[in-house]
Amino acid sequence: MFKTIFNKLLITYLIIIIVIISSLSFILSYAYRISIFNEKEESLNFVASKVQKVANEYNDGELSRKELEAYLNSLGYITDSSIYILRLNRNDLENSENLQEVNEFIGGSLIDDLDNVLQDNIVFRKEVYSEALDTFVVFLGVPLKINSEIQGTILIFSSVSQITSSVTGMNLIIWGIAFIALVLSTIFIYINSLRISRPIKIIDDAAKRIASGENTKDIIVTSQDEIGQLALTFNYMKNKLAEIENMRREFIANVSHDLKTPLTSINGFIEAMIDGVIEPENYDESLQIIQEETFRLMKMTNDILELSKIQSGALKLSREHLLVKYLLENIINSTFMGAKHKEVSIELNCQEEAKVYADRDRLKQILINLINNSIKYSSERVCIKIDVANKNESVEFRIKDNGIGIDQDKLKFIFEKFYRADKSRHSKTGGTGLGLSIVKNLIELHGGIIYAESEAGKGTEVIFTIPN
Ligand code: ATP
Ligand code: MG
Repeated sequence: MFKTIFNKLLITYLIIIIVIISSLSFILSYAYRISIFNEKEESLNFVASKVQKVANEYNDGELSRKELEAYLNSLGYITDSSIYILRLNRNDLENSENLQEVNEFIGGSLIDDLDNVLQDNIVFRKEVYSEALDTFVVFLGVPLKINSEIQGTILIFSSVSQITSSVTGMNLIIWGIAFIALVLSTIFIYINSLRISRPIKIIDDAAKRIASGENTKDIIVTSQDEIGQLALTFNYMKNKLAEIENMRREFIANVSHDLKTPLTSINGFIEAMIDGVIEPENYDESLQIIQEETFRLMKMTNDILELSKIQSGALKLSREHLLVKYLLENIINSTFMGAKHKEVSIELNCQEEAKVYADRDRLKQILINLINNSIKYSSERVCIKIDVANKNESVEFRIKDNGIGIDQDKLKFIFEKFYRADKSRHSKTGGTGLGLSIVKNLIELHGGIIYAESEAGKGTEVIFTIPN
């Protein structure tokens, strides 16, 4: 029963509301009962004071006995009560038979009450059973004082039925209102609980649909609260997942396409050799092409593995403080970039003290990659200018060439996987479009940034930083 949030909310709220409403109703009805009995006591006291007054008038001979009785009868009739004046003293109480008629009103306890009253006390009883009236009565006993002397008692009995029916009536109203309040709050709580739990259910359904591979629309966010936030985050996550899935598909499509081209070429040459289309004396040239294509395949597989290693976080840098100038001179002198058939001049302009905190091999890989690009995307005479300077907490590298440059609209894509600005040059330059993507990932792994500036036909400048 408590499994769903909806049930939890509903039941918890209902318990709270029921407890509050019933305690309130109980307190109200109890308070009403007390106040109505207090009122009755006051009104009986008022009657008693009137009776006291006429009793004195009777004693002074201003009223006849008949007039007194008539007065008491009509007063009793108006106030729905029976009024008695007893002239007696405490000794008379011992012979209680004389009090038979009065005694019937409230039974045995009356003698004690009378004794109390004769000792100048007022006795008020809320609900005592009266044999004479066969009902519960309210009873008030006050001392009868003639010339300030206690000469007896004034007893007033009033039926309790009027009071109880009024209390019952009031109770009905209170509990009626309580019931209506309960029904209304149940409806309100039901709607509210539904409002809280429904979006969670919608998110749950959407999550299940996504898990089963279905495409779902964004969840409509209707509130700004935590659940609204959850829906927003969910939408964000869903769209991110879709983006990743698209990237994955694109990646696979790219890889398969790029693998297929050299493989088709290798297969073509081998078939031609087997079928005798290529004469054995021309094998050398064919084998060379096959070898080049194989190299390309190997390079591409290595690059893909490298990239996925960096992106999955599996690549760990072993960083050390390096003097950049020394490292760069080393690269330029020893490798010279395999610049086949090209005249390459490299101008290095590096601050002596420029030091980075980097992985030596990876930094070398970055620089070789960028210098290679500059050579690859230039005509016969290649002029490369490398500027290195300390900048803030980093060292800034600027590698500038006078090559073919990159169109402005293509510049922003060059760091993406498999992107090549000029696809037709593919087979000639042998690029797979992974180089800059690897470089960018490596630089970011070091905590640096990379960007490029270029003008088609004039040259390209790649700028990157490595923290020092
Ligand atoms: P790979 O480096 O994987 O062998 P690639 O050189 O084609 O292949 P990237 O190094 O990632 O791939 O470069 C992406 C594209 O950006 C290149 O294909 C080229 O079009 C362009 N590019 C990169 N560097 C330069 C540059 N210095 N001058 C002109 N274009 C460049
Ligand atoms: Mg490259």
